[in-house]
Amino acid sequence: MPPATKRKRGEGQWALGYREPLNKNEENKKNDDGLNVRRRIVDVYSKAGFDSIDPADLRGRFRWFGLYTQRKPGIDGGKTGSLPDEELDDRYFMLRVRIDGGQLSAEQLQVIADISTKYARGTADITDRQNVQYHWIAIEDVPAIWDALESVGLSTMEACGDTPRVIIGCPLAGIAADEVIDATPQIREVHERYIGSPEFSNLPRKFKSAMSGCTAHCTVHEINDVAFVGVVNDEGEVGYQAFVGGGLSTNPMFAKSLGVFVKPEQAHEVWKGIISIFRDYGYRRLRHRARIKFLMNDWGAEKFREVLEKEYLGYALPDGPEPAAPLPRRDHVGVHPQKDGNFYVGFAPRVGRVNGELLRVIGDLAQRYGSGRVRTTAEQKMVILDVPEANTGELAAELAKHDLQVHPSTFRRQTMACTGIEYCKLAIVETKQRAMDLIDELEKRLPDFEQPLTINVNGCPNACARIQVADIGLKGQLVVDENGDQVEGFQIHLGGQVGASFGKKVRGLKTTSAGLTDYVERLVRNFDAQRTEGETFAA
Ligand code: SF4
Repeated sequence: MPPATKRKRGEGQWALGYREPLNKNEENKKNDDGLNVRRRIVDVYSKAGFDSIDPADLRGRFRWFGLYTQRKPGIDGGKTGSLPDEELDDRYFMLRVRIDGGQLSAEQLQVIADISTKYARGTADITDRQNVQYHWIAIEDVPAIWDALESVGLSTMEACGDTPRVIIGCPLAGIAADEVIDATPQIREVHERYIGSPEFSNLPRKFKSAMSGCTAHCTVHEINDVAFVGVVNDEGEVGYQAFVGGGLSTNPMFAKSLGVFVKPEQAHEVWKGIISIFRDYGYRRLRHRARIKFLMNDWGAEKFREVLEKEYLGYALPDGPEPAAPLPRRDHVGVHPQKDGNFYVGFAPRVGRVNGELLRVIGDLAQRYGSGRVRTTAEQKMVILDVPEANTGELAAELAKHDLQVHPSTFRRQTMACTGIEYCKLAIVETKQRAMDLIDELEKRLPDFEQPLTINVNGCPNACARIQVADIGLKGQLVVDENGDQVEGFQIHLGGQVGASFGKKVRGLKTTSAGLTDYVERLVRNFDAQRTEGETFAA
């Protein structure tokens, strides 16, 4: 038998007849759909307490509703990976709320803030997928939290797990004067039709979607599993180009364009066709090869498009144009005009860290100065909409009183950090506080630095904070200090840029956490001194 066929047999693709689960994750999903865990949480676990939870639910199906056990406090990074789950698991949970398109009303923000103060010890982080992430959630409180969220149209369903996760969208959808298309109706349609459907609740692994007509490309379509990006075809019709197979972590890959033109009313069925290909042809045998990027890499865009059209859509899509190049900064920080004559005000919490109290303040300000509408961004930032021009200065001053800056330094604006050792069981090092300290210190030491520069801080070799596409990517690991002791530190990756290049791991470039600020300062000073006009780290 030729080697290529042999390999295919081993990938566990349902469409080729390999239905038997080939690993524990697949077996758990076959034994019981992740969506069924909701009933057990409400009826059993929340009443009988943490110790009653079936381990297959605790470390598997709970994710289908956005719940992960958080790391037991006090376990150092050296123990990560060497301890069994039971010893790493705290009795509290991280809970992720999906906010499709990052769109929040005043009422929804109020509920999110209330849950934070009442059930989550005040915690609330804005993630780089526009979600809100709580910590310290007790299983007993989960039904009440769900009731509160659902009363305002929010949920945690399929916020994690091998599912179609939150669909990210431009926070200015329907508002930005220069947008190609408002993708909000398409995001809603996909959400209403397919999120929580058993048809797509057992995927090979997670499936990240983006839909946007933003000219800055703030949804970073290049690193999503599927993305619909607004374009205008030769006839002047507005629609989408479809991208498939982006993802970071191990073997980072940028998404490939299918070269098609998708009309807005077709978007939901094309999305359905693409996720169906992933479900049916995705590789289920090895978890680390189970993302759609590996299938796309093996097939190529041409074959992917052919299978989509012939086996799933039943019709051919016309060829479509590629989207315009992104802007140098893809966030929406600052004061900018909306198409209706009002202004939006984007501001920068440091590395997405806010809290219940602060969210309440933001909600109040949004109502006082705007219409109450607030947005989360895919860069851990927030935006208040609908502010009359005359009020923007006062709003910016009010936000600044709470350390929420509308005109932040590059460091505050472009530094991202993952959850890290504070709560994440996979983490080796501290990230959020480390990154916040780094920002504060760099602001003092380099007050005049204004160039675009991304610094992304990860607590382990995974890519939750996108280290591979940062100018300076910091990958948490243990390093040896000058005394020969193993301490927290970072491997440095340099020169990454979304859609263009992955940062290079430079041999020997490592720093201890204690030496991080000095190290980054040196890098930035050297770059600034040597760069030519328009040059970036990646160039
Ligand atoms: Fe946890 Fe690693 Fe992801 Fe950070 S990158 S949140 S440490 S898994």
